[in-house]
Amino acid sequence: MRISGHPSVEELRQALREKDVRLACTVCGRTEFSVEEAAILSGGSAQGYGAHRLPRTQVVCENCGHVMSFAVAKLQES
Ligand SMILES: [Zn+2]
Repeated sequence: MRISGHPSVEELRQALREKDVRLACTVCGRTEFSVEEAAILSGGSAQGYGAHRLPRTQVVCENCGHVMSFAVAKLQES
């Protein structure tokens, strides 16, 4: 499926389902999430000028607050 660069929880769920992955919290197992977008600057070995920015979508578990992040570009490949 075509997933947007700014997917909703439902879009993310669909894209993962196509990979036989069920979106569930890795800590408490619940399946209710909210979405937080974040572009995280990679730390560590900055090579040369500037820093690499990896666009991610983060989902926050509505139950325990655990945050999981997904590199959306990876899901857009298939
Ligand atoms: Zn949880």
